[in-house]
Amino acid sequence: MDRDNILLTPGPLTTTLRTKLAMLRDWGSWDTSFNELTARVRKSLLAIVHGEETHVVVPLQGSGTFSVEAAVATVVPRDGHVLVLDNGAYCKRAAKLTGMMGRRCTVVSFGDDEPVSPAALSEKLKEDASITHVLMIHCETGAGVLNPLQEVSEVCAAQGKGLIVDAMSSFAALPIDARRMKFDALVAASGKCLEGVPGMGFVFIRKAVLDSCAGNSQSLAMDLHDQYVYMEKTGQWRFTPPTHVVAALAEAIAQFEAEGGQPARLARYADNCVALVNGMAELGFRPFLDPSVQAPIIVTFHAPGDTKYDFRKFYEGARARGFVLYPGKLTQVETFRVGCIGAIGRNEMEQAVRAVGLTLKDLGIASGEPA
Ligand SMILES: *Cc1c(COP(=O)(O)O)cnc(C)c1O
Repeated sequence: MDRDNILLTPGPLTTTLRTKLAMLRDWGSWDTSFNELTARVRKSLLAIVHGEETHVVVPLQGSGTFSVEAAVATVVPRDGHVLVLDNGAYCKRAAKLTGMMGRRCTVVSFGDDEPVSPAALSEKLKEDASITHVLMIHCETGAGVLNPLQEVSEVCAAQGKGLIVDAMSSFAALPIDARRMKFDALVAASGKCLEGVPGMGFVFIRKAVLDSCAGNSQSLAMDLHDQYVYMEKTGQWRFTPPTHVVAALAEAIAQFEAEGGQPARLARYADNCVALVNGMAELGFRPFLDPSVQAPIIVTFHAPGDTKYDFRKFYEGARARGFVLYPGKLTQVETFRVGCIGAIGRNEMEQAVRAVGLTLKDLGIASGEPA
């Protein structure tokens, strides 16, 4: 079989043939046509969050984490104090990189099955006036929880704190409107809900704080202010651009727009999520999260209680049938995850459920029922 597997993972994910074909060219970094491509991509990205009036967008080479680290290093002054709202693995990563960037960091912890609390944030900000910035994850991809971005942004605005949002797994699928909420930086990447290939991130930075970002970063490569100034001046990226990734992203964005933009993408992913959860329920599987806090991005399922279950074998069985699952990221309970994002629809989700059902049979497991 020479067909690609369907990736039910939170990135890299399944892309269309049209997106893949966009990479069959070589571009020079000085090439006008490539610089126009970069400018076009930046313009489209700004439009997705309606940020034309309020924000600039700065692309950066690397995986999504590189851009989160760069956002912290660029937006937070060296003597700043960042409060991280923690309800999962990606929050913990954000807290870790904040500390490693030399910024003072305080973590407020929540359960990994519940959204972070704007009320608790408000209390914490009143208790500790030294906090300058709040860092939150919009969709915590660890368990799949949707966090209350609008409410958190209102608390930050009311108390005069900067807000940095990791919207990596939500951007382009869940609504984010810069006209209705205030954030200093919002981070996403090419290889998530825009369905491009992985290799670059981008950060929306509020124009009002842009000038004050000069000189904050202690890293040259991660300095988004420097990247911005250079790009505005020359139209080029500082350092070798991920040319093929940019070309694929431009093509992915054209398809995103043709599909109907963010509302259409959300509708497709929500339908994928329903098809997945319903199909898996018929096999006995139970989602880890309450439906009220589940984002339609990635679903965490409890592992089957049957003693014959082994994630490795389960993974291999589904993979042999063309579907790539993802391990769980929770420490307390045994789980696995299935992504709803990528260039896939209800058919692929139903086929994935069928592959899981056949794999259970192979392993002699009667039901996906948890222990
Ligand atoms: C995917 C993702 C990232 C970035 O992960 P990389 O492996 O660096 O691409 C960051 N935060 C969240 C919430 C994510 O889903």
